Amino acid sequence: MKTADIHVIGAGPSGIFSSITALREGKEVILSEEHTSAGAPVHCSGLVSASGLEQLKDVVDYKKCTLNSITKANMHGKAEKFTLSFPLPKAYVIDRGKFDSLAMQKYADEGGKCVFGEKITSFSQLKSTNIIGADGPISSIARLFNFPPITSYCGCWQGEFKYSCPQKDAVEVYFNPEISPGFIGWAIPIDETHAKIGLGVGKNENLSHAKKSLLSKLEIKDAPTHEFGALIPLSPRKKCALSPIVAGKKFNISLCGDAAGQVKATSGGGIFFGAMCGRLAAMHAQNPALYDKEWRKKYGMDLLLHRFLRLGFDSLSADGTDLGIKALKLMKFDSLLMEAGQMDEYSKMLSLNTLNAYMRVLTR
Ligand SMILES: Cc1cc2nc3c(=O)[nH]c(=O)nc-3n(C[C@H](O)[C@H](O)[C@H](O)COP(=O)(O)OP(=O)(O)OC[C@H]3O[C@@H](n4cnc5c(N)ncnc54)[C@H](O)[C@@H]3O)c2cc1C
Repeated sequence: MKTADIHVIGAGPSGIFSSITALREGKEVILSEEHTSAGAPVHCSGLVSASGLEQLKDVVDYKKCTLNSITKANMHGKAEKFTLSFPLPKAYVIDRGKFDSLAMQKYADEGGKCVFGEKITSFSQLKSTNIIGADGPISSIARLFNFPPITSYCGCWQGEFKYSCPQKDAVEVYFNPEISPGFIGWAIPIDETHAKIGLGVGKNENLSHAKKSLLSKLEIKDAPTHEFGALIPLSPRKKCALSPIVAGKKFNISLCGDAAGQVKATSGGGIFFGAMCGRLAAMHAQNPALYDKEWRKKYGMDLLLHRFLRLGFDSLSADGTDLGIKALKLMKFDSLLMEAGQMDEYSKMLSLNTLNAYMRVLTR
């Protein structure tokens, strides 16, 4: 059996960013991917913040996989609407399959090895005692090493449709619990005439009923060109790193990305946090407890704030959501978010600068 300093399982963004970081630290890495290539099948909308993509550009030049630039977001309640508009692109719609293949290409160019078509599910397949589980929301590595569970998931559906969004540079987000209870719905323009339309629902809710409601609201009758269903984890695991002794050998196991539940519970976005935590997992692969401490120090508060907001949205009825939107507009929160809003790192908004921005907004 070929062995390495670090064995990374899963060649999504978390696994590839993890592998390339380990390689750059001078480690011998083996990356295993169950599919025959990186970037397929795609289970993602590919909406990523401009600030996030900037932080990932040492690996992927996002301009090479950008489909559309987003400068506006229309947040819909049942009847009320809240619009955010920015002078520069706040996010990009990327071709997610291409993003992953470009990352894999960069890893290969830097000398990285990936074994495709290899699904890792047992101890005998592990190629190192330092393991990074980046194997997505239903992680085999988490199961193999008895990690504490992810306690909250939502079930999602998305299709690509011939559909003209109201504006080519605006995403439409639906916060209506009568349509997508326990999560959100979205219409993300790819170009003037095509959009990714999807939604998620909480546990025990009816996804196919939700899908019908959204398509009927948007008056879409045509079939999608490509559609899928998938799970999004909405909370991090209590522990994302363990050092168990198995058959007399000490293993260092770190989980990152969806496998760890490092996803924004507001929107389901996980590319940025997964890739950044993947990098941290690689830097501390021999000391997983330190990895668990470091990622929580850096991003734990952000993910917690996303989670609090999710719990807040989930507690509202459709009418309550409308009332909330009215209140936010009255308090000029839309203007504040346009000036100081962050898409990923919400903790950056807990600053004196934001307070100053709010004072400016209120006195305008
Ligand atoms: C409907 C939907 C829309 C989304 N939209 C967005 C969005 O707009 N923006 C955003 O940032 N995020 C979005 N996400 C979330 C995003 O797709 C994930 O957070 C991201 O893919 C996580 O990356 P990852 O590398 O951790 O996991 P994954 O991308 O799931 O990669 C895991 C990899 O591991 C492989 N694998 C799994 N098990 C094994 C095994 N046992 N052995 C070997 N290989 C294995 C899989 O084949 C896969 O390649 C969306 C998700 C869904 C479901």
